[in-house]
Amino acid sequence: MDGGLNRRLRALPAVGELLNHAELQSSPACPRWAIAGGAREVLSEARSWIRKGGDPPSLETIVGRVRDRALELAAPRLARVVNATGVVIHTNLGRAPLSPAAIARVVEVAGTYSNLEYDLARGRRGSRHGIAADLLCRLTGAEAAMVVNNNAAAVLLALGVLATGREVVVSRGELVEIGGSFRIPDILLQSGCRLKEVGTTNRTRLEDYARAVGPDTALLLKVHPSNFRVVGFTESVAAPNLVDLGRKLGLPVMEDLGSGCFLDLAPHGLPGEPTAAQSVAAGLDLVTMSGDKLLGGPQAGILLGRKEIIAACRTHPLARAIRVDKMCLAALEGTLRSYLDGSARDDIPALAALTAPMGSIDVRARALKARLVDLVPGTWVSLERDQSRVGGGAFPAREIPTTVVAIRPPGGAGRMEAHLRRHRPPVIGRQRDGALVLDPRTLLEGDEDIIVSAVKSYRTGLEDEEAGSGSSL
Ligand SMILES: *Cc1c(COP(=O)(O)O)cnc(C)c1O
Repeated sequence: MDGGLNRRLRALPAVGELLNHAELQSSPACPRWAIAGGAREVLSEARSWIRKGGDPPSLETIVGRVRDRALELAAPRLARVVNATGVVIHTNLGRAPLSPAAIARVVEVAGTYSNLEYDLARGRRGSRHGIAADLLCRLTGAEAAMVVNNNAAAVLLALGVLATGREVVVSRGELVEIGGSFRIPDILLQSGCRLKEVGTTNRTRLEDYARAVGPDTALLLKVHPSNFRVVGFTESVAAPNLVDLGRKLGLPVMEDLGSGCFLDLAPHGLPGEPTAAQSVAAGLDLVTMSGDKLLGGPQAGILLGRKEIIAACRTHPLARAIRVDKMCLAALEGTLRSYLDGSARDDIPALAALTAPMGSIDVRARALKARLVDLVPGTWVSLERDQSRVGGGAFPAREIPTTVVAIRPPGGAGRMEAHLRRHRPPVIGRQRDGALVLDPRTLLEGDEDIIVSAVKSYRTGLEDEEAGSGSSL
């Protein structure tokens, strides 16, 4: 190694020196482990730079880079974002926000011991499965209920209990992929079942099911087509008719409701999605659904069904691997109580967002626009009619009228979208027709303040750029 290179490398500070640097130590958001991690990365990059012939960066430059890196390292990886997309159940953005009642229950049990698996009346070991089951039965009329990690797990368990090693009859119109590579045929395979497809993509009749049943058939399965819809010349078999057939043939009938919901949303302009209670009343032997889609609770899979089937689910070896934790059960209990109390529509953020009257959306849109017009030229901002979406695979293709704040900034909507996404907390909007649109329907309390701060910093960035200060957005 040549002496000049060695000298230039030695000009770099040591990690210890950076750890004790006053400017880094005084930053409360930079814990020691993050400064150390940041320092190692920045010094390693500086060494490569010097080896390629570059000059050693100044101490000031290095300290600045270490601070930026340490802040990045110390920031939580899972953090709040503002959902301004208008998609209410947004799987990428954490699906349903919890209600205050659900959060309160989590806070109550998370930091203490609890009777999760302890029978207080008898003073001995109890079962976690009893905790939400009673509320679920009360709300849906089901004989028995069980909660697992998510709906994918619920389907896996149900198929394992009802049909392992045997045949499951499913309509070709319902062999869907939900997203995230959850494909019904693959799940069937994973559960050790054989798939017997019936009907065609667009039409399946009761006779198709009847003809497909053989000595090895264990189950008739119905699946909510989720985020997919066949339109035009279509036909499918309604749950009650499939139940009749199952009874005649002595076969259990199961439905994966997907999102599932406990509140009839038809009076709020969202018809066509059966409630869990309606599915139970239709006579299905087993129904599965998610906890964090339309129900508006924590991530969970809910099984509702006949006593002996749920009992078999509880003792199946898979049950242990997909069981729910105390925080999920606490949040679910808090959520379900709102339904029993009749306050679900007000308490549960996803339901409040879906059923918000047009008038209140308009008021929020106008107020947000007014705050933004105080910050940026009025020509950037307008109110426009648009559509919100339910998301989560429920009410596929159904659009809900809304009013959005559309921003057309200099520099382009794409650039502003990227800026808002990198803001802390991030603001996630949607691009349409050269505008960045922000839908008030999915905004939660305090979100408007975050949007205002993000848009303000975008404008400041543009001004700095125009002034030639070189600040990049
Ligand atoms: C969403 C969905 C699932 C998966 O539910 P998770 O709770 O995300 O595991 C399964 N089936 C259908 C029809 C769905 O819509």
